[in-house]
Amino acid sequence: MKYIGAHVSASGGVQNAPLNAQKIGANAFALFTKNQRRWQAKPLDNKSIDAFKHNCELVGIGADQILPHDSYLINLGHPEADGLERSREAFIDEMQRCEQLGLTLLNFHPGSHLKKVSETECLRRIAESINLALDKTEGVCAVIENTAGQGSNLGHSFEQLAEIIDQVEDKSRVGVCLDTCHSFAAGYDLSSHDACEASFNEFEKVVGFKYLRGMHLNDSKNPLGSRVDRHHSLGMGTIGNAVWEYLMPDPRFDHIPLVLETIDETLWAAEIQYLRSLIKKAA
Ligand SMILES: [Zn+2]
Ligand SMILES: [Zn+2]
Repeated sequence: MKYIGAHVSASGGVQNAPLNAQKIGANAFALFTKNQRRWQAKPLDNKSIDAFKHNCELVGIGADQILPHDSYLINLGHPEADGLERSREAFIDEMQRCEQLGLTLLNFHPGSHLKKVSETECLRRIAESINLALDKTEGVCAVIENTAGQGSNLGHSFEQLAEIIDQVEDKSRVGVCLDTCHSFAAGYDLSSHDACEASFNEFEKVVGFKYLRGMHLNDSKNPLGSRVDRHHSLGMGTIGNAVWEYLMPDPRFDHIPLVLETIDETLWAAEIQYLRSLIKKAA
């Protein structure tokens, strides 16, 4: 079974996200559980927690079909003590919000060295941040998203993802979210069936499909290896459609949230329908 959806709006309250997912024919979704551009947020109240759970049940979307995303401000590999401390506190808060909502995954961008510490040290800090957060929470898996490698963002190579996972103590609560745009921008070709085969074989070899807990489905505005993170609508960018034809019939991508973060949300319903049509074609 494929869980396909989009990163939907939670404006007006988290309880609106599952309803927004249903409107576009999704059976998966991503959301921010607080304003992603602010450090502070008021705690979730019982009313919206209950309404969120109720609405998820109403639309038939369970915790394994939901991939919440943390705030963009958090840098778990921050080179400076203050910034690191602030990020770690905010990340624990994000994890606790997931716990409260009955969610089991939290997707985040690993972190940036800001040219102030080595890659190795930054990856070590990220892993330590994950360990601290897992210690303080229960039942939520830390899902590391691969990046395009823009600026000093780490997590653009499978080796870096593996290096983080290697240093996480509880391997049952760490995973990976592969973003197709980020993968392509980082140099993993997905523009043909054979290129997909090679890139995902490489992922299996270096990280392992057992860690794959979600995917972001985006085309890219920039070419292979550009290291620039600019999403595009499906089929309109530089990756093309071979990747969706590859992913949809493949059972290795079953039972994990597959989430669109494409740039034109008026196309989401059609994009979901298109992706579903590819599952059937192969069956
Ligand atoms: Zn993404
Ligand atoms: Zn992106």
